[in-house]
Amino acid sequence: MPMSETFKERLFPILKEIVDHFGTPFHIYDESGIRKTGQALMHAFSKVAEFREYFAVKALPNPKVLEIIKDMGFGFDCSSIPELLMSRKIGARGTDIMFTSNNTTVEEFKAAAADGGCILNLDDITLVPKVPEMPELICFRYNPGPRRSGNTIIGNPVESKYGVSHEQLPEAYRAAMDRGARKFGLHTMLVSNELDYRYMVQTTEMLLEQVEVISDKLGISFEFINIGGGLGIPYRPDDRPLNLDAMAQEITEKFKQFRYKNGMEPKLFMESGRYMTGPHGVLVVTAINHKNTYRKYIGVDACMSSLMRPAIYGAYHHITVFGKESLPLGPPVDVVGSLCENNDKFAIQRRLPDIKQGDILIIHDTGAHGHAMGFNYNGRLRPKELLMRTDGSVELIRRQETVEDYFATLSFDADRIVPKKTGTQEN
Ligand SMILES: *Cc1c(COP(=O)(O)O)cnc(C)c1O
Repeated sequence: MPMSETFKERLFPILKEIVDHFGTPFHIYDESGIRKTGQALMHAFSKVAEFREYFAVKALPNPKVLEIIKDMGFGFDCSSIPELLMSRKIGARGTDIMFTSNNTTVEEFKAAAADGGCILNLDDITLVPKVPEMPELICFRYNPGPRRSGNTIIGNPVESKYGVSHEQLPEAYRAAMDRGARKFGLHTMLVSNELDYRYMVQTTEMLLEQVEVISDKLGISFEFINIGGGLGIPYRPDDRPLNLDAMAQEITEKFKQFRYKNGMEPKLFMESGRYMTGPHGVLVVTAINHKNTYRKYIGVDACMSSLMRPAIYGAYHHITVFGKESLPLGPPVDVVGSLCENNDKFAIQRRLPDIKQGDILIIHDTGAHGHAMGFNYNGRLRPKELLMRTDGSVELIRRQETVEDYFATLSFDADRIVPKKTGTQEN
């Protein structure tokens, strides 16, 4: 099921008032739902020695949401300087942050080490000498290559740009040790939006096996493994939700076996984005135009700049026509935005109840990789974000973009060079 019944029960009775006050379009997030998912994760993994979720900031980079996640005791997975700065701004420090970048710059390494540092997760062996100062605790991202298959969003590990190869992995740890690293972690991220929990169990098994091999080889021990994000959510009404309890139970069992064999067990880290916030957000839009040509089109007051997933991945997002939930479905329509790209569609040939101009449409599951992915192509601006608190109050947590924001990068100090040797010069 997309969007939970409890989210509906909280939102629908007050939606008209929210729309009247704030105006559409907007994303709205449900604090109660986010907290409930966080608690479910902690409960599911309560039997491993230590569990921590590092929320993937890129999924929903809003300080008000990050504060909720920090309040639950979780950390943050960052991969850029702005994400680091935002996490630190709300008080995350040191081991609260895992920095998982790729194709990393020296500037990024410096930002990662600043302000109390973070857990540095290196994507490649050649980055070891480029880290300005090797921290005591270091982690590598492992790419198992042909040993595993990926899924559709993230692709086949052999073709993926991420991570240290199987052959290079022990060498990478040795190089980090030579530069002074004394504590170690092992990370991987192989899937995205995966609903089959067994994949994560296999990933755990794979990482624990590598921990044994490398520990043996180098005489080191590991503080943690990080099994990455990628837990799926049911976007389609007939998708079966990920079986969290079965996944946690089987992963816990792998840890138990590891402890039995090795007399210790590493901590278990995870860095889910989508699973934490995806189902707890919706995009609310208004129908503004009808068009009847070769197909029927419903034009709404938002476009790809609010939600890119349908256009990029052909992703399905369930749509509810507010107040018409129990009405019969009409002939198929395309629900479209105004961008001059024919893939600017929230739904393609979808059967929905009869939509009148002014109707409110609720586009489900936009709480992760929704607003954050938006762009400004075609001069399209991003919408506002709202947060529904546990007490039912609704708060603006990001304003909509303005034309001034769009023009902001055109305001700068004049700068110009006349190259001494230009292409058109004769001699
Ligand atoms: C994007 C990303 C995540 C989060 O992915 P979800 O599918 O939202 O869980 C976690 N880790 C890394 C390294 C990522 O790039």
